[in-house]
This record gives sequence, C-alpha cells and structure tokens, in this order.
Amino acid sequence: MIPSVLPTYNRAPLSFVKGEGSWMIEADGRRFLDLGAGIAVNVLGHANPVLVNALTEQANAIWHVSNLYEIPQQQALADKLVAESFADTVFFTNSGTEACELAVKMARKYWYEKGQPEKVEIIAFDGSFHGRSSAGIAAAGSEKMTKGFGPLLPGFKQLTWGDVAAVNDAIDDKTAAIIVEPVQGEGGIRPMADEDLQELAHICKENDVLLILDEVQCGVGRTGKLFAHEWAGISPDIMMVAKGIGGGFPLGAVLASEEAASGMTAGTHGSTYGGNPLACAVGNAVMDVVAAPEFLADVNRKSGLLRQKLEGLVASYPDLFEEVRGSGLMMGLKCYAPNMDVVNAGYDNEVVTVPAADNVVRLLPPLNISEDEIAEAVVRLEKAAAQVAAKKD
Ligand code: PLP
Repeated sequence: MIPSVLPTYNRAPLSFVKGEGSWMIEADGRRFLDLGAGIAVNVLGHANPVLVNALTEQANAIWHVSNLYEIPQQQALADKLVAESFADTVFFTNSGTEACELAVKMARKYWYEKGQPEKVEIIAFDGSFHGRSSAGIAAAGSEKMTKGFGPLLPGFKQLTWGDVAAVNDAIDDKTAAIIVEPVQGEGGIRPMADEDLQELAHICKENDVLLILDEVQCGVGRTGKLFAHEWAGISPDIMMVAKGIGGGFPLGAVLASEEAASGMTAGTHGSTYGGNPLACAVGNAVMDVVAAPEFLADVNRKSGLLRQKLEGLVASYPDLFEEVRGSGLMMGLKCYAPNMDVVNAGYDNEVVTVPAADNVVRLLPPLNISEDEIAEAVVRLEKAAAQVAAKKD
C-alpha cells in the first residue's frame, strides 16, 4: 500500500523534534550536530532568537497580505538585496524552483520585447540542479530527473560542466541565456573556477546572451561572500536565490538588472504567497545578520578551520576519501567508499551530513556554527570514517 506521504524520498529513520543552534535533537533524545542545515537552509542555525523574534513579532501583527497591496517588509527586503548586489529589482518566490521558473520566463520575455522572439534557448551544464519543475528538469537535462516526465519543456541544451570553451560553439542566434550554479550543490560541490565564470560572463556580453546565476544553494553567505559570484568579480543579469535567504522559512527570490527585467511588466508574473509579510520579516532578519562584513569574515575564518580539519580526515583515511572541495561553509568530501555509507555512519555517530551526486558527502553547516562545534563535528566524522573503514576490512 502506498504510504500516506508520497514516497519520493528515501528517508533516514530519524525524527528531529527540536533544534538548538547547530544541534538537532532526535525524538529519542540523542543530540546530533547538524552539518546539513536542511540542505543549506538554516544559515543561522535552529531556533535562532533573532529569527524567532522576527517571526513571532510579525505573526502577531499580520501573516499574509496579497501582492495586490503594498507589503513594507517585502519592500525593505528588496531594498536590502538591491543595495547589497548587482540587482536593481527583486521578485519574491517561495522556493528555488519557482525562482528558476521566473528566471527562464524573464530571459525569454526580455528578448521577445527586444524584437528577437527567436531567442528562447537556454544553455545549461550537466550535473546542475535547478529544481523539479518542468523548466528546472529541462534545464538540468539528466535522465534521472527527466525520465518519464516528457514531453520536456523545449529550448534547453546542456554542455559538459566546466567546458567553457564549448560555450562559444553552442551559442547561436536562438540563445537567450546561460544558466549556471557558481558552485554546483546537488551535483557534488563542484565550484566553477573564477576564470571560467569570468570567461562565461565575457562570452555572454560579447554574444548578447543573458547570464543567469543559480545561487539557490551557494548564495546568502554560504561561500563566505554574500553571493558566490562575487569571488569572480562578475555581475549576472539575473540571479536565483532561495534556501538561506529565509533561514528556514520558505522564501526565494529572483534578482535582476533593470535591463534584464524590463519585459516583466504588471500582469506578466505573480505569486500568491511570494514575499508575504511573514517570509519577508524573517528574510530581513537573515539579511541584517548575514550581509554584515564581520559575519562573512567569520564564515571565511571558520571555512579555513573546517577545511584544515577535513584535509586531516582525508589524509587519515586515504582509502575512503579522495579530496575535500568547495568554498566557505559549502564543502564536499569526494569519496572512494559509497557516500551513503559515510552519511549513515555519521548518523550512528550523531553528525548529520548530506549526500550529493559524484559520490560526494556535503557539509553545509549553519554559517554561525562555532569553532568548538566544528572541531566536535570532525571528531564525529572521524568516528564515522573509522566505522566505515572497519566494515570495509
Ligand atoms: N537550484 C539549486 C542550485 C538548488 O540546490 C535547489 C534545491 O536544492 C533548487 C534550485 C530548487 O530549490 P527548491 O528546492 O527550493 O525548489
């Protein structure tokens, strides 16, 4: 009999009933260190008092107001995002997937309004993940995501990740945009080199193609800059954000330049919930903390510590791990052993990590995790590694 929850996930037999900072407490009382943060969502940890206050204060005032009316919390958050980024304008969504939908629509509408309606194609990269909607799976293109869900939304093609040289050849007079994650998350914590991102941005400018960055997973302080592309010193035309921006409350956004957004006039897009007062009250509180230079400096410092400790782990278990990769507090352990063995052994040792493609174990802790917690987390990962190694022998 089909479970009452549609079984699209292979769930671990863990049921977390409480969260405190970087810790999650299981129904049986065990305390787990959280290096997953709900897949890069809880950027300020669990039950952060600043976020709890923002949420409850707003909940006592007004929860939801339609986008038919002005929403001061939304205006304030848009102003902050515009002030802190390349963008001139923002549309709020409830998720990364919806941000992908709008990014694609916006790019196509831009060229339509420019009198070039033939420019509809979007170039993406293999291993990417842009959500599970029709546009999202068509952009990712992998068999795993698309099989059985045809006919696929037309107008997408995929190039090999990192093969920036192929982009020039792939662009033609139908190309509307390139979409790329500066650091692939689901694909296995695969950062695009700064030079490659710079080259992509250059190719887009030269060829009249819009650059869409998907920073749903790598944005909002995760890599130690507010947005990951800042490391490469480039500016996209359109950017998708979600996950961290809501700190655990469902919130996403599309940020765009005035030019790229110029086709999106009244009535061309909408959302019932996107940018409602509750979500934006939390989003504002997240941004006030995460965008502060001292906070980002701290993320970078802790990133160095985590990387150093993980390098030690890889050196101690060269048969289990190949390398550490990633940036900021978005790290991946590329494994020789099956990544799920490591993740499961982590559960046994009360540390939560997240599997990714390419046989990688992802480490995406809350950005305010302490140094002591990082040290403790790696002790637990070492125990997990020892357990996997013992089973292997
Ligand atoms: N884009 C990227 C890079 C993601 O990592 C994800 C989710 O993991 C999405 C888009 C989809 O976001 P959501 O699950 O919020 O719809």
